[in-house]
Amino acid sequence: MKITQVKVHLMQAGAPTHTAWGGAGKSALATGRNWLFVEVATDAGLVGIGEGSGWPRVVAAGLPDLAPLLAGEDPFQTERLHQKLRVALMGHGHIGVVGAGALAALDTALWDIKAQALGRPLHDLLGGALRQRVSYYAHVKDAETARAAVSRGVRAVKVGGTQQIVERAWAVREAIGPDVDLIVDLHGPAWLTGADAVAVGRALEGARLLFLEEPVGPEDELGWRRVRDSVALPLAAGERLGTLAEFDRLMASGLVDIVQPDTGRTGGPTQLKKIAALAEARSLLLAPHSGSLGPVAEFAAVHWIATSPTGLILERLEPDWPGKAQAITDSLHAEDGQILVPAGPGLGTSLEPDFIAAHPSERNVALPAGGWEPGTSQETPYLQARRTRARLTQS
Ligand SMILES: [Mg+2]
Repeated sequence: MKITQVKVHLMQAGAPTHTAWGGAGKSALATGRNWLFVEVATDAGLVGIGEGSGWPRVVAAGLPDLAPLLAGEDPFQTERLHQKLRVALMGHGHIGVVGAGALAALDTALWDIKAQALGRPLHDLLGGALRQRVSYYAHVKDAETARAAVSRGVRAVKVGGTQQIVERAWAVREAIGPDVDLIVDLHGPAWLTGADAVAVGRALEGARLLFLEEPVGPEDELGWRRVRDSVALPLAAGERLGTLAEFDRLMASGLVDIVQPDTGRTGGPTQLKKIAALAEARSLLLAPHSGSLGPVAEFAAVHWIATSPTGLILERLEPDWPGKAQAITDSLHAEDGQILVPAGPGLGTSLEPDFIAAHPSERNVALPAGGWEPGTSQETPYLQARRTRARLTQS
């Protein structure tokens, strides 16, 4: 079997009906989200699909550069082809999330082809599923949206942002009761200091969090150490990373308990397997990032986490834009707060190219809800929100 063609599909994704960060039509997710998919065709008639995040519009522009390197190759040679693409990218400096996003899209499609050719679900090729259902958490913004999620069957929720986050997190804990898992994501903005994050973390220590996510930004190692030394909560990070070496550094730092690869920008199953091995060696848990991701990366995440001994939980926008189900032929099914691991051959879904083509990319960057006021402290990421959005508590 030989690879004959790589097709790139870029689309504008619509707004989720609500998120933890702002109402529909206001958040960056509502106005700037693109999904990037590939189809890799073979002379055997099999077509594999993959998704690349890490600035999808830029990844889409780069993929035609890489596609000729796969033409005529055997899709079963996933490790060799992964390394071939990495060598081809070397001249551009660090691979970063854009390069790792391109690798993820192509690598996922190759694994999909392999699994289809063998007539087995992808998870069988990654070691076999350890569980037939994968837990997930949904985003909520307050007690009311948390109660609504729980009434839909959700068993874990995440509250995001910084504004009055302590009060909102406690209100959600009260609303969901003791048996539903609660996560808090501060999104580690550059303006949030280690001291701020320590204050928030300490105020949440009694709220029985599953984890506290990105208490400060990934660049702020001193802030991370300060939080790590001062807050008795499990800490999570990793959604902004791309390469195996970056994940190795994060895990070796001892700063996190939960690692959060985004399956659209971490090199595909070839690299995800290695990340899972590094995590297992250190007894660190895995909680794949989603948020901006489309449906194909979510399929990849479910197959991967089902085979990972330390796979804890998957992030999932729920509800998301209804078009998420229309961009693909088959959607994931959830019951009682868990996603059923797909049992059919390959990833378990295909693209709907007509629907994707009907939603062309318009833009792929956006300012956060609240926007940008020239001539104010919002002009840099270091001051951006200190005055208007840094009210960590009501008092
Ligand atoms: Mg996050």
